[in-house]
Amino acid sequence: MTERTFSIIKPDATARNLTGQINAMIEEAGLRIVAQRRIRMTQEEAEDFYEVHRERPFYGELVEMMTSGPVVVQVLEGDNAIAKYREIMGATNPAQAAEGTIRKRFAKSVGENSVHGSDSPDNAKIEIAQFFDEADIVG
Ligand code: ATP
Ligand code: MG
Repeated sequence: MTERTFSIIKPDATARNLTGQINAMIEEAGLRIVAQRRIRMTQEEAEDFYEVHRERPFYGELVEMMTSGPVVVQVLEGDNAIAKYREIMGATNPAQAAEGTIRKRFAKSVGENSVHGSDSPDNAKIEIAQFFDEADIVG
């Protein structure tokens, strides 16, 4: 089933000029980048985006990290895009990420782990709508 997921290339990755290499891995996996924008996330945007983690001990650190430099927000489209992207991202903690995954190759730590991907169809819709107008997504 063709579906869409929301992706973020995080500040630790943009700082090391990894956007192209990460995009190549996304495209090699058969996902299409149907919208993409490089932005500086505001404090408010990062707090809203990670609202579900507000009570977690790392919330403050997470918001600070996501606003520390430019990010690339993206919409990815393809067969089973949500699960497929989670698979090529690898585990949250790069020490546990499988060989050949984005986080295994590039992540620095469990916090600075280079990419975000939606974890469910409902969250994908919400996350895409936070950063993109439907008219700016060209499938
Ligand atoms: P993401 O939501 O970014 O795709 P994920 O779904 O693999 O990653 P979550 O459990 O949703 O992981 O955590 C969201 C983000 O919070 C992680 O990607 C990471 O940047 C940060 N994070 C998670 N656990 C920790 C931790 N123990 N310490 C610091 N930061 C953490
Ligand atoms: Mg998550």
